[in-house]
Amino acid sequence: MSKPNILVMGPMYQPKLDELEAAYTCHRVWTADDPAGLIARLAPDCEIVVTNGGRGLKADEMKQLPKLKLVACFGVGVDAIDLAHAKANGIAVTNTPDVLTEDVADMALALLLGTVRRIPQGDRFVREGRWLKGGMGITMSLQRKRVGVVGLGRIGRAIAKRCAAFNTDIGYFGPNPKSDVDYTYFKDIVALAQWADVLIAACPGGPATYRVVSRAALQALGPDGVFVNIARGSVVDQTAMIELLASGALGSAGLDVFDDEPRVPAELIALQNVVLHPHQASATHPTRAAMGQLVLDNLAAFVAGRALVTPV
Ligand code: NAP
Repeated sequence: MSKPNILVMGPMYQPKLDELEAAYTCHRVWTADDPAGLIARLAPDCEIVVTNGGRGLKADEMKQLPKLKLVACFGVGVDAIDLAHAKANGIAVTNTPDVLTEDVADMALALLLGTVRRIPQGDRFVREGRWLKGGMGITMSLQRKRVGVVGLGRIGRAIAKRCAAFNTDIGYFGPNPKSDVDYTYFKDIVALAQWADVLIAACPGGPATYRVVSRAALQALGPDGVFVNIARGSVVDQTAMIELLASGALGSAGLDVFDDEPRVPAELIALQNVVLHPHQASATHPTRAAMGQLVLDNLAAFVAGRALVTPV
């Protein structure tokens, strides 16, 4: 039996990409000399696309593949995939939930502690020999602070659990209050930000959450407030965030995600009250391997005509 043709739109964890390429006839779009020509050549029979959270798949691209039946995403965030178009056209979408939750939550805490205790700034202080001329100065503490989580889903809950270990109070904002937690629910994000010392974005990207962390929310967080984003750049008003950080109206920020990655505005890079990280929250060997395995498991289920493992 011939192996199915798969269009692979962007990179995924290399050892799992190797397994994918051994099991199927894969065509790498992101390294192709003529990506449009490659897609056109495979269009008559290609049923499967593998993509990643950043690359996604647009409606126009799906329209070019009349036989498309499955978009398997390496990543939990599917905001770059046109889900409405996929649904309307009977195209299944899978993602990689759960397996990345703990590492992403760890990164949120690393960014939070790094920002509050100014760990990268301390690293630079030692390396640049400034310690020889005097101490670095005093920082804020995370202890006994109020932490507001935007999006109490899988990752948001894992973040809240970790924050509780730092003797913090937890509040959260999202569409639906949860009956199985004793955290404080806020139905308005500005009210959550007013209450909180720390705001952590852990919701999905996409139109429904576009700029949900608004200028007003960041202003409410205030001059001592800390904002952490491991969600998507789109969920925060980045222009307002930079202005408020620069003026001191917002205290500090720890950011794994940005608008228009990998381009980070020079104004943000120039600030000393931010900790910047290149969208690496799930980027550990075990988690990336587990994400890749889920892509393989979903493809195997699809090819065998079984139920998909993690449909969106
Ligand atoms: P999840 O379990 O589906 O949780 C998403 C949560 O967001 C849900 O609790 C949902 O609320 C909430 N939400 C939905 N719309 C919202 C809105 N308008 N405002 C506030 N909250 C809203 O997803 P997850 O597995 O935790 O992943 C969350 C996101 O993290 C992903 O979609 C992805 O964008 C991001 N992520 C980033 C990285 C990284 O490398 N930085 C890695 C993995 C994931 P309800 O429960 O009320 O529906």
